[in-house]
Amino acid sequence: MKYVDEYRDPAMAEHLIEEIRRLAEEPISIMEICGGHTHAIFRAGIDQVLEPQIRFLHGPGCPVCVTPIEKIDRAIALARRPKTIIATYGDMLRVPGSESTLLKEKAKGAQVKMVYSSLDAVALAEKHPDFEVVFFAVGFETTIPANGFSILRARELGLRNYSVLCNHVLVPPVIRFLLEDPDVQIDAFIGPGHVGTVVGSEDYRFIAEEFGRPVVISGFEPNDILQSVYMILKQRQEGRRQVEIQYSRAVKPEGNVRARAVLNRIFEPVDQEWRGIGTIPRSGMAIREEFRDYDAEFKFQSALTLSPAQESPACICGEITKGVKEPWQCESFGTACTPDNPIGTCMVSSEGTCAAYYKYQFLKRAAGGMLG
Ligand code: SF4
Repeated sequence: MKYVDEYRDPAMAEHLIEEIRRLAEEPISIMEICGGHTHAIFRAGIDQVLEPQIRFLHGPGCPVCVTPIEKIDRAIALARRPKTIIATYGDMLRVPGSESTLLKEKAKGAQVKMVYSSLDAVALAEKHPDFEVVFFAVGFETTIPANGFSILRARELGLRNYSVLCNHVLVPPVIRFLLEDPDVQIDAFIGPGHVGTVVGSEDYRFIAEEFGRPVVISGFEPNDILQSVYMILKQRQEGRRQVEIQYSRAVKPEGNVRARAVLNRIFEPVDQEWRGIGTIPRSGMAIREEFRDYDAEFKFQSALTLSPAQESPACICGEITKGVKEPWQCESFGTACTPDNPIGTCMVSSEGTCAAYYKYQFLKRAAGGMLG
């Protein structure tokens, strides 16, 4: 597929669905890592069209969802400092910390600004030389290079009032972690398309070669996803286990070499806590020592020694992001926990699984119950 009208062409969708049904001799579980794919699957109703042969598991690919509560508490502690501006993406404002959110702190008068890119935060630092500007950066390999570039830009401009509180996470280590967990049963992966634009396909070879699972890096339109499922089933039928790229209009096998160079220049791998999941070795990226002046955790370390964080015991986000449970199994889903009043991170972000179920499945299920 190359042209925009092909991505949603009903005739092509019907053909792919027929082929998938023909090839799916037995039920299989496919995990889509990226929250963008989760929403695309639900929005187009692909999960309902392909069940019961294809069961989609929704992985830990929403950066907001996996940011540990301690990191939110740190951002809040910095927001409470005098003469400090916290700049971050819109979703991060509503993520619950132990006792507050950045949005609540903003309502109380803290300088919390929503930005669309890390360079907006650098511009804030230029504009407000009397303030410390801290960019609260979260994200996978897709966003790490741009956030690293903001550090290079701040250094180039000679800004000493700009720093980054970062929670950067990597896809391959969390996939390995899931594949080694005996509770998690995944037959194949729809690989993350946006991450693929930066890292390419090589980093996923271990999934096919060590664990014998097909991977297809997919685009985000309905026919992209259907074609990716078809490619997975074709691999299984032919006895192949490979990493393939369906999203070839954006992803090259080698990824974006320049973006990867920035990523590796500014950041280095570290063990990383994933909210609700635990610590995964070398699954995060921290700012290298050479750039410590721009690392908020180093710069403000005395302000960031906090009491242990308190996670809500009602929330099962960790099991949901591992694909072990569905939001229906959380007793707070749609009652105590809604997008307007989220208890856990999976209900906050537009990429969160609970938010996707709430938006696309809750009403359908309710309508089905009423009709039934
Ligand atoms: S519905 Fe809310 S409380 Fe339950 S798992 Fe999802 S985010 Fe957590």
